[in-house]
Formats: sequence, C-alpha cells, structure tokens
Amino acid sequence: MLRPNAVRPAGSFDKAIKLGGAVYRGIQGVGVFAQNTGRIALKDTKFERGFTDRTEAIYLKWRTAVETANSFDGIAPYKNLKGFKDVTLTQWLDWKWQVKNSFKNPVDLLKALGVEFEQSQWDDISKAFKDSQARFGINTFEMRVTPSYASMIKARDIDSAALAELKDPKNWKNPTLWARFIDPIFNQAFMHPAELVRDEFENADPLHEDAMKVAKSTTRRYPNRVLLEITETCGMYCRHCTRRRKVSTESLSWDDIKQGIDYVRSNPEVRDVLLSGGDAFLVNDKLLDRILTELESIPHVQIIRFGTRTPVVLPQRITPALVSMLKTHQAKKALWLNTHFNHPRELENPESRRALALLADAGIPMGNQSVLLEGVNNSPKIMMDLVHGLLQNRVRPYYIYINDLSEGIAHFRTSVSDGLKIMLALRGFTTGFAVPTFLIDAPGGGGKIPLAPQYVAGFSPDGKYILLKNYETFDDSNLEGAAVFKYPVKGPEDIAAVKALLRMPS
Ligand SMILES: *Cc1c(COP(=O)(O)O)cnc(C)c1O
Ligand code: SF4
Repeated sequence: MLRPNAVRPAGSFDKAIKLGGAVYRGIQGVGVFAQNTGRIALKDTKFERGFTDRTEAIYLKWRTAVETANSFDGIAPYKNLKGFKDVTLTQWLDWKWQVKNSFKNPVDLLKALGVEFEQSQWDDISKAFKDSQARFGINTFEMRVTPSYASMIKARDIDSAALAELKDPKNWKNPTLWARFIDPIFNQAFMHPAELVRDEFENADPLHEDAMKVAKSTTRRYPNRVLLEITETCGMYCRHCTRRRKVSTESLSWDDIKQGIDYVRSNPEVRDVLLSGGDAFLVNDKLLDRILTELESIPHVQIIRFGTRTPVVLPQRITPALVSMLKTHQAKKALWLNTHFNHPRELENPESRRALALLADAGIPMGNQSVLLEGVNNSPKIMMDLVHGLLQNRVRPYYIYINDLSEGIAHFRTSVSDGLKIMLALRGFTTGFAVPTFLIDAPGGGGKIPLAPQYVAGFSPDGKYILLKNYETFDDSNLEGAAVFKYPVKGPEDIAAVKALLRMPS
C-alpha cells in the first residue's frame, strides 16, 4: 500500500491516502477478480493474464481522487512549472505523455523554472547550446528531462546571481559559474556547458564494455551473469551517465535483443541476467513480457534483474498493468530490481514513493545504486538521509559507485576519499542493511572493486590477537588501549594469511 513518507508532515495527506486507499483497494479487487474469472478482461485486454485498460482507468480515478482532495501540494507539482497550468492529471500520469513532453534543451527548462532573460539573451544561450551539440556531431548525448523530474527542482536553489552573470554570453561556457547551481535535481538533469570539457582521464568507453560484447546488446564481464541491454532510451538522460557514448543516440532491435537471449540460452553457466540499457522499463509492456517469457523458459537462468531509473525520473511508468505483469513472471522465475536514487529529495516525489510501494507490494525485492556526484550528493549527511529514505520505502541500498571516467563528466568527479568517508559515517552509525558497498568500477574493464575503511589496526606483539578499531574508535590513535578491540587468531599462519588478504606488509 501507499505509505506517507517521513519527510512530509502527516495530516491532510493522510486523509488523501485514506480516500485514495479505498479506491486503490478497489483496484486491487478488480485485478484479482479479473485474474480469477477473466470476466472483466473482455475486449480491452492487453494481456491474457487479466489486467486491463479498465484497471488503468480506475487507477487514474484513484489518482484524481487524491488530487481532488487537494491536500498534498506535492501531488500536483506541475503547477510550479511555467506553461503547465492546463495540463490535466490524466496527461501528467501518463508516462508516454511525460516522455513526449520532456524538456529537450536548456532554454525550455530554464523558462519553465521561471528564469527570465531578454529575448536576445535567450537567443545567445540557445546558440551556445546548439554550437556545443554541433561540436560533438551525431553522438551528442541528448538532453531529456521529464516534467515530473523537473517539477522537483527548487528554483530558489538555482543561484540567481550566477544566472545574472550568465546574461553575458561569454559566461555561458564558464563551468565555475555553473558550479554555483546547487540544486541536486537540476544538476543531474541540466545539460551543462562543462560537458564540453574533456580531461586526460576520460574516454568514451571507460569500462571497456564494447570489448566484452558477446552480442550487440549483451556484455559479459563476469563468469555467471550477463548484462543484456534492451533499449538505449531512458526516462531522463542523466548528465552523469556512464553509457552516454550510446544512450539516447543508438537503438536496439528485437533481433539484437534476441541475439542476447540466444547467447544466454546456449551458455549454461549464465544464471543471472541483468536487463538494463538505457532503462529497462522504457520498453513497452508487451515487449518486456516477451523478453521475460523467453528468458524464463531457459532452465539455467535462475534470476532476472532490472536496472531502471524510472521510479526516480519517470515514476508514472510503474503502472498497475506493468506491475501485475511482472508479478506473473515472478511466479516462474525470481525477479529483482535495482533503481538509481542519488539524493534524498528524489524520494520526496509522491509519485516515486507510490511507484516503489507498488513494486514492493508485488514482492519484487529492490536495491538501489547511487553514483557519487560532486554538487549532488558527496556528503555523509546527504547519503545518510538517502539510505534512511530508501529503507522507509522498502529499498535496500546496494552500491555507491564513484563517477566513471566517461567523456564530459569530469565536473561530477569526487575524490576517492569522499566515498570512504561516507562508508565510515554509515557503518555502525545506522542500520547494517542501510549500508551499501562503495565501488570503483575499474577503468579498462576490471569490474566492480569494493573499497572500505580499514578497521584492522594490526596484531598484538605476542601474536595471539588481531587488533580492531570500531566505528566509534576509528579515529583514535591509541593502539594499545581502550580504543582497540581484540579477537584471537589461529597462530602465525592465520596472521600471514590475513596480512596477505588485507595487503598489509608482512
Ligand atoms: C555491474 C555489472 C554486472 C552486475 O554486477 P553485480 O556486482 O553482480 O551487481 C554484470 N555485468 C556487467 C557487465 C556489469 O557491468
Ligand atoms: S537512466 Fe541510467 S542509462 Fe539512462 S541516462 Fe540515467 S544513468 Fe544513463
């Protein structure tokens, strides 16, 4: 069921939830009824499994009821976007409408956020934008921001002094100026002139994925699992995307996907198939249904998992129809899902929380992968809030990646120690399963490599104990006293082995 989140005060929202909840239970009832009897699934049946356009219509009615209660400002956030006054709720809740009406250039987005320039200055910005696109030719990584995601930007956090300076067109390409735009939502969405910069560490395919292709759609880096890309489109094009060399510009056909599936079929050691892209949920229900049907017919495939950012950037995609289709497949093969929240504010979107609730209610275990980004989330406080928010929405923090070395995203790169400091600030200080693993996905195709603070302080002089720091005493330099905890080792061989595993001098 939908649950109010802790960030928002209770009150009138609860009323809306009660009202919405009644209708929602109604929908579930219809779904179950349809599944059991098939009677409702008449001419508007999308799938044979008993969910219908009618279910969707009732779902929209539910949303309208919540809206009519007019009790939760966040539920109709588009009212904050200029030029969206006449949008109907039915349009807003339609993921295809969201995609179609995405902001595709910086000028439109800034205008919708209420930024005001003279026409000639808009023209200058527009020209600079087009020039920068032209500079990289056809492989430009597009801008696409759903109105849903844009509506979460707090315009007041967009530095107005910096904006004023931007009125001088020569400033348009000044990364320092743009770095003053501190809204984390904005920074992930907005095509930033700093993307024009290339630094010595970057290249188009830092993870050497292309060299590890077993089919156009399929990458195999690990012994028993593959990454199967099923689309190169996404709800939003995240500016920090690691696959920006091809996401938004390339496309995949059914034949490409089929080749990947055939590869899995003929390689019995592949027990885990990761459907991603792009964004795995950007393909329509019918195609997704077909892909899952094929994969689950392969006996050695044990689990199928999705990589999708739709709960964050296009939560409207998580419809009852999609979820009940997933549930049907899950009865045959375990489905897992990884999503990609980077900032606690992304969980303030009620649509996102609804999407997660729907998936969790369907029994799909969810993890979250974050990317550590300068100007977005590289602080212990932000990450602590994020992991707590995720747990409240039944999502388990899985990975924190350091920013990959893809071209044009050096301005997002954090220091490695930022990640370690975050790990230190989480472990012990909060719920154990709120703590993700911090990774460097190794440039050159080395795969995901975990990094963690070193809690081993050494060995006791008599060789009997390993000496340990805990989360509270980590910074204490006292190596013999109360700051150190001991555990017995099994002789010199154990010590030698531990030293080798921890790469300590012997
Ligand atoms: C990340 C990744 C996986 C999955 O890795 P896990 O650590 O199992 O989550 C699989 N294949 C490729 C190519 C990947 O990049
Ligand atoms: S959703 Fe994922 S694949 Fe798509 S742009 Fe964002 S990071 Fe890249």
